Amino acid sequence: MKIVFATNNANKLAEIRQLMPKEIEILSLKEINCFEELPETSDTLEDNAAQKAFYVFDNYGHNCFADDTGLEIDALDGRPGVYSARYAGLECKAEDNIQKILGEMKGEINRDASFRTIISLVIDGKEFQFEGELEGQIIPEKWGEKGFGYDPIFLADGYEKSFAQMSMEEKGAISHRGIAVKNLIQFLEKRVKQYS
Ligand code: IMP
Repeated sequence: MKIVFATNNANKLAEIRQLMPKEIEILSLKEINCFEELPETSDTLEDNAAQKAFYVFDNYGHNCFADDTGLEIDALDGRPGVYSARYAGLECKAEDNIQKILGEMKGEINRDASFRTIISLVIDGKEFQFEGELEGQIIPEKWGEKGFGYDPIFLADGYEKSFAQMSMEEKGAISHRGIAVKNLIQFLEKRVKQYS
C-alpha cells in the first residue's frame, strides 16, 4: 500500500516513516511532483486537514493523509487554536507567537491548555479522521531549547520537563501528534490485513 503524506516538514515525514509497518510505503509530496502550497483556508483543524488531503487526492490521484495541529488555551477561549502557526502575524516566528501568548497570559491563574492534532486520511475518495489530544499547562516563562513552535512554554500534565526539554523520542511517545499517528497506523494495519 502506498500513501502520500501531505507535508513539507521533513521531520514529520521521517518520524512517520519510522513508525509505519513495512507494508505501507509513505510518499512525500516531492515524490509525486507536487511542489505547490496546499490550501489551508478553513477555521477548524478538521476542515483544514481534510482540505489538504482531498486536494492531493483530487489533483494527483493518490491516497493521502494530512495533519493539522493547534494549541488551545482555556483562558484565551481556545486561542490560538487553528491560527497557531501565525498567531502573531503572517510573517511571524515561533518566538513572536510565544511572546504574544506569554503577554496575554500574564497574571492569569488558569493556565490549562491542550495540543490537538487531527489527521485526515483519504482513501479512494473516502475520508477517515484520527485525533490526538494532550492536556497540560502554559508555564509563565520558557524552559528548554529543543523542539519547535510552542514547545518551550508547554508542560504536559504529569511531567516536570517542558516539551522543549524532552528528546524527540520522549516527546513523540506522549505527544498529541504521536497519539493521532498511532490511531492512524492501527487503522491502516487493519486495512492492510483485510486486503492481503
Ligand atoms: P501544524 O498544523 O502541525 O503545522 O501546526 C501548526 C502550528 O502549531 C505550528 O506552526 C506550531 O506553531 C504549533 N505546533 C504544532 N505542533 C506543535 C508541537 O508539537 N509543539 C509546539 N508547537 C506545535
